[in-house]
Amino acid sequence: MRDAFGKFRTPYYYYDTQLLGETLAAIKSETDKHEGWHLHYAVKACANPKVLSQIQQAGFGADCVSGGEIRTCLKNGFPASEIVFAGVGKADWEIELALEAGIQCFNVESIPELEVIAEIAERMGKVANVSFRINPDVGAHTHAHITTGLAENKFGIAKEDMIRVIRVARQMSGIRFVGLHFHIGSQILQMDDFQALCFRVNELQDQLEAEGITDVKDINVGGGLGIDYQNPDGHPVPDFKAYFDTYAKYLKLRPGQHLHFELGRAVVGQCGSLITRCLYVKQTATKEFVIVDAGMTELLRPALYGAHHQIQNLSSTSPERTYDVVGPICESSDTFARDCQLPLTKRGDLIALRSAGAYGETMASQYNCRELPAAYTTEDLNL
Ligand SMILES: *Cc1c(COP(=O)(O)O)cnc(C)c1O
Repeated sequence: MRDAFGKFRTPYYYYDTQLLGETLAAIKSETDKHEGWHLHYAVKACANPKVLSQIQQAGFGADCVSGGEIRTCLKNGFPASEIVFAGVGKADWEIELALEAGIQCFNVESIPELEVIAEIAERMGKVANVSFRINPDVGAHTHAHITTGLAENKFGIAKEDMIRVIRVARQMSGIRFVGLHFHIGSQILQMDDFQALCFRVNELQDQLEAEGITDVKDINVGGGLGIDYQNPDGHPVPDFKAYFDTYAKYLKLRPGQHLHFELGRAVVGQCGSLITRCLYVKQTATKEFVIVDAGMTELLRPALYGAHHQIQNLSSTSPERTYDVVGPICESSDTFARDCQLPLTKRGDLIALRSAGAYGETMASQYNCRELPAAYTTEDLNL
């Protein structure tokens, strides 16, 4: 084990392609039970080319939030017709790129955005498929920074404005209204939250029907299913059955309607680790620090959200001690864990930060003029 992980210069991301395969199979086995259900992997979770192409080959489409992500998906084999495009601030060049490629659908978040898409589509002689992202005003039991479905969040169109925007869209020649889109947040582990979304969607669908709007082809419920950061080996594959069963049980689709999902974290989160090395062990009056060669530049989540990642020393089985594990970056928030238990750790030990497959590599930066991290798979390490 140690020899395999010691083969490459640290820090680097390691993706367990076998676990990714098992995760994708677990998702498919649930969704294949239902006709008209579609999966769009949320690319912002992890855009590593090998990971992307494995997900594409498993039959997923893509959910993109930028022109760069659309380009990356097209380059890695996703057909444009399987790509949906969300985001509160789509730039003109991104809209042009998406129309040129012929993506499946824009998830539109405001009337000003709708007007710009209509104008660009008309100029290009195209028609843009549009779903409206409705803010369902449904809370989620997760970190405040990653709830997106409350009235106070910047995302989506107020549900009170839904009928009006659909009527506006139907007047526009560059626009084809196809459906409704929702996304309530991320790292959600309570199925009640998804159930609350189902009830809200049912309510909105009843309102539409009462207004004579019966041409809603697509319902897109976004993503947000969480993973077990405390115990990655106990729950390597998230509980997809509970998640999809919630929608099957509570969401009332109209005949012929298609249901779309945009999972990100739950697909890739447990499949990635950040592999780093202990540079120094430093004793101060009150603390013992393990200083590693990865920092917030490679894995931002602990600094950004106070997120927890399990830390494993791959080189030591000695009795445990209490350490703070910190990176080399010139910021006090560059801390991976405080007062955590690790086997006696020495310079040169290999350390894994687990559950780092989602929002890890994609959030890496070059702060302090550092290089972006490398990434290897199970095959690269001959594991
Ligand atoms: C981020 C995002 C997702 C994926 O969220 P996860 O929590 O990673 O599943 C899905 N849809 C939209 C619109 C997003 O912005």
